[in-house]
Amino acid sequence: GENRAPDYLRGLNPEQRQAVETTEGPVLVLAGAGTGKTRVLTTRIAHILATGRAYPSQILAVTFTNKAAREMKQRIGLLVGEQVEGMPWLGTFHSIGVKMLRRHAELAGLRSDFTILDTDDQIRLIKQIIQAEGLDDKRWPARQFAQMIDGWKNKGLGPSEIPEGDARAFANGKGRELYRAYQDRLTTLNACDFGDLLCHPIRIFKQHHDVLAEYQRKFRYILVDEYQDTNTAQYMWLRLLAQRPKEGNRPGGRGLSPLEGEMAGRPEGVLSEGTTKAPSIAEPPPPGRIASGHPPLKGEGKATVNICCVGDDDQSIYGWRGAEVDNILRFENDFPGATVIRLERNYRSTAHILGAASHLIAHNESRLGKTLFTEAPDPDDGKVVVHAAWDSEEEARAIGDEIEALQTKGHALNDMAILVRASFQMREFEDRFVTLGLNYRVIGGPRFYERQEIRDAMAYLRVVAQPADDLAFERIVNVPKRGLGEAAVRQVHDTARALRVPMLEAAGTLAESDELKPKPRAALRQLAAQFARWQELLETTPHTELAEIILDESGYTEMWKNDRSAEAPGRLENLKELIRSMEEYESLRAFLEHVALVMDAEQNEELDAVSIMTLHSAKGLEFETVFLPGWEEGLFPHQRALDEGGRSGLEEERRLAYVGVTRAKRNLHIWFVSNRRIHGLWQSTIPSRFLDELPEAHVEVAEGGTSYGGYGNPYGSGRGGGFGDAGRRNPYGASRFDSLGSPSGGYSARGDQGGAAGRSFSNTYATPGWQRAQQNR
Ligand code: ATP
Ligand code: MG
Repeated sequence: GENRAPDYLRGLNPEQRQAVETTEGPVLVLAGAGTGKTRVLTTRIAHILATGRAYPSQILAVTFTNKAAREMKQRIGLLVGEQVEGMPWLGTFHSIGVKMLRRHAELAGLRSDFTILDTDDQIRLIKQIIQAEGLDDKRWPARQFAQMIDGWKNKGLGPSEIPEGDARAFANGKGRELYRAYQDRLTTLNACDFGDLLCHPIRIFKQHHDVLAEYQRKFRYILVDEYQDTNTAQYMWLRLLAQRPKEGNRPGGRGLSPLEGEMAGRPEGVLSEGTTKAPSIAEPPPPGRIASGHPPLKGEGKATVNICCVGDDDQSIYGWRGAEVDNILRFENDFPGATVIRLERNYRSTAHILGAASHLIAHNESRLGKTLFTEAPDPDDGKVVVHAAWDSEEEARAIGDEIEALQTKGHALNDMAILVRASFQMREFEDRFVTLGLNYRVIGGPRFYERQEIRDAMAYLRVVAQPADDLAFERIVNVPKRGLGEAAVRQVHDTARALRVPMLEAAGTLAESDELKPKPRAALRQLAAQFARWQELLETTPHTELAEIILDESGYTEMWKNDRSAEAPGRLENLKELIRSMEEYESLRAFLEHVALVMDAEQNEELDAVSIMTLHSAKGLEFETVFLPGWEEGLFPHQRALDEGGRSGLEEERRLAYVGVTRAKRNLHIWFVSNRRIHGLWQSTIPSRFLDELPEAHVEVAEGGTSYGGYGNPYGSGRGGGFGDAGRRNPYGASRFDSLGSPSGGYSARGDQGGAAGRSFSNTYATPGWQRAQQNR
């Protein structure tokens, strides 16, 4: 009974407990945010270990991020102690895939010390292949083809399996050949790309049933978190592993029973790996069958192993990367006899936060539908607070103030997070926090100033300000490509050494000699002349303007504009943001100094620090207090998602909003600004439609604000004009937040008395920000 239940089971609700204790057979936990899905997975592993159902090494547990894997390991450790150390197969799809591939590399034509190419290497390689085919790599950009390859690999498709239409779409029908040539090249180089980390194992499993059977016997239990975001290749990989091994392949199985109920602490060796008897043995599918992605034939490859997947269709946010929410729907079909468990009680968030989240996500049409409830609202709980700010600088300032105020009241920085829609938004917060001396860490990606495009741009600026900065010069001497190969760069290097001058100067000298071939010589001459001109301009031109000129004339911006990869638009946004950030500094030198300081700021895991991350990397996490800035049309929902995805794009954005809202345990602050600089121009913005989709009962406007709409019409569509946008119409109808952010209800923290009490929505809009806005129009 309950009293004799082991500690780790106490406190679970009946459904959670069922999900933990139904160890045999397939289990699908389909439940909303914060209902304890991850906790169920963790406890289930503890239960399996504690009852001696399997050795740690016989459990395959897949998480979405390395961070999640670390956390899961920690949690299990708390429940079962050091047994967790023996779990080599707990990790992300990629980390587990690479481990398998190293063990069987030769079956994929590789050696076990193969290298994994990063995106840059991958693109360089593809470019060589495109050129080797005699194709124009301007017309057929390597980045675009890299994207296509990723897409195919997400579907588990090798060169001979891609659809004819896809193959025709690139390089006058040479898509398939190029893909094959790329794979051949990888093999020659003893290398693979990220997609191969799953695709190779899948192919090995299909071709070598003995290898597959080894893993099938090994993994007594398979567990998958964030199941809604698995893509087709990941699903195929799981399905292969989740089948009972073919009887004939069992090498002398001794047929021990699964030791049901036996407690941990049994003598080592009683249950040796790979000897557990499988109660029912299904025939594996004919080779090549399930791989092709067609729906399974009747009775084909029905999997009956102990697999437990947990997920939430409302949190599927990686559709753009090939995730298939349909994998949830297929589960019951592909794993017959599956127990489907629904968890409906949310343990994470207050009633207000949960109410806001549920109401918001209800606007999506394509949902499986779930109920969520939490404890009755506590009268002390605050509602979700919506704030308006003038612009993003003020938004960062106000959030910084808020964080400091919370800190003064005794809240730990570790309990707070800022979740942004686009990475460029981070810059403003990083800068502000460095100024305030507030510790922060960026999770799931580089910090703003560490991004490739920002480092490149900064390198140009550094050479202009400090011509002796050889490291910076080397970084950009051939970025964008100017026909300066390694040999030419080495020559610049050697000349600089010999003459004891900076590389830039050596480049100028070399350009006038005849030591180089005409093409690199011309390129160096042009580059040296450009830098000379930019250095002159430094004396006369405002540094932000100069930065724009440099990025323009050097061809750097152009390079990303011509780039058709998925990241290119984000990189261009970041470059714009970089220039914007310079405005706050008097000179280029002051700005460079500031960046050096930011780069130096400690990123210490141990430190109490505010987390900053994108909504995408916040999946599965939770924080006491969450700030969601930038809820404006065009930023969130993001214009790109709307343009490319239509309704499904919008719904994915809304799921992302749902993920954001449900990260908060107690306090949730949502922000929007009335002016944002987009594509270098100040624009007055429209509050996100998602704000209107939050239920009034659970939301309040920040203190100092009046009720919805503030001035006049509670659903104020009466925008105040003032920006010459009187004719602009909110595309989805009037927003009740319109007048909050509009000039007539403009929120101004500047020039006020400072502090929370002094903040007010006022009609004053002759702020510095506004003046700047006017100047920049
Ligand atoms: P998400 O969908 O965001 O990944 P989740 O369903 O995985 O959420 P968890 O992170 O497992 O949810 O749990 C949310 C919070 O609720 C955690 O702090 C967890 O410890 C707590 N929790 C879960 N179940 C219980 C329970 N039975 N009693 C008390 N707290 C619980
Ligand atoms: Mg979770």
